[in-house]
Amino acid sequence: MLNRRKFIKSTAATASLFAIGNKSASGMIPPPDIKDIKPIVISTWDFGIAANQAAWKVLVSGGRALDAVEKGVHVPEADPKNQSVGYGGLPDRDGHVTLDACIMDELGNCGSVAGLEHIVHPISVARLVMEKTPHVMLVGDGALQFALENGFKKENLLTKESEKAWKEWLKTAKYAPVMNIENKLYDKAAPTKLPGNQYNHDTIGMLAIDSKGNISGACTTSGMAYKLHGRVGDSPIIGAGLYVDNEVGGATSTGVGEEVIRNVGSFLVVELMRQGYSPEAACKEAVMRIIKKKPETAKNIQVGFLALNKKGEYGAFAIQKGFSYAVCTEEKNDLLIPGKSYY
Ligand code: ASP
Repeated sequence: MLNRRKFIKSTAATASLFAIGNKSASGMIPPPDIKDIKPIVISTWDFGIAANQAAWKVLVSGGRALDAVEKGVHVPEADPKNQSVGYGGLPDRDGHVTLDACIMDELGNCGSVAGLEHIVHPISVARLVMEKTPHVMLVGDGALQFALENGFKKENLLTKESEKAWKEWLKTAKYAPVMNIENKLYDKAAPTKLPGNQYNHDTIGMLAIDSKGNISGACTTSGMAYKLHGRVGDSPIIGAGLYVDNEVGGATSTGVGEEVIRNVGSFLVVELMRQGYSPEAACKEAVMRIIKKKPETAKNIQVGFLALNKKGEYGAFAIQKGFSYAVCTEEKNDLLIPGKSYY
């Protein structure tokens, strides 16, 4: 197990600067020279470290970014100790583990599943929706039927630990997610989560560039713990939880999905990068939209954006302190915290 603290660094020094000065006459950022592009994978939260390692194996062997992000997010999806993604995720208020995921490639193809039950790797079902159907999104029973018809195994995703946590929650049955939980626990010396992974949200959003310079992204989660049965968050929604444009870059999000959907967050971040914003500045602007529209709500929730541009520059910004993301390149596999947050 990697020592997380060892890898935690502030990105204040490494995040690229606001770069609006580089635009060409057309108003677009000129694409970087392909020979300057180096493979990179970035992903949300501390569990991104292990996920990036799996993705890196694909990238380093010359594989496609799309394969890298799929393989990468398989790691937290299959980890029963991770209670916010895939197998072992905390259930909705009725006790169902319902998963949301989406994937997008360098050609603008995308696939998504929402409210999918019983399947350990929703990201792979999303990929199959993208590759084998004329559709973008399948939900609920239809998504499950499609997965089973395509050879996925039906499994019980509710672990004993998550069932216990849900039964405990049922005693009060109050849906009041402590979205700034990481802020409350934030400690510069040890910015870790609650002991025993008892957090009630978090998503893995992953973006990668391969040796051909192509970008892809994946996003997968069990969503907000104890949500209404049928609730869908931002994570499976193209443009909200994830967006990739191979000319510009990609973005992904985590936190209260409703606020991300309202602002079409990841699409916004990519469009801002298209206009010349650095990844960090674009993420910050997307966070500011949320705060400006709902300043009171924003005080008590977390939303974080993570972005990667075509040049391989990355950056993040969150409403609350405590957001972390992992970056893996030839030189490093680091866990970073954004240099700044709104609060
Ligand atoms: N965005 C996810 C959702 O709203 C949760 C999270 O990332 O914390 O379902």
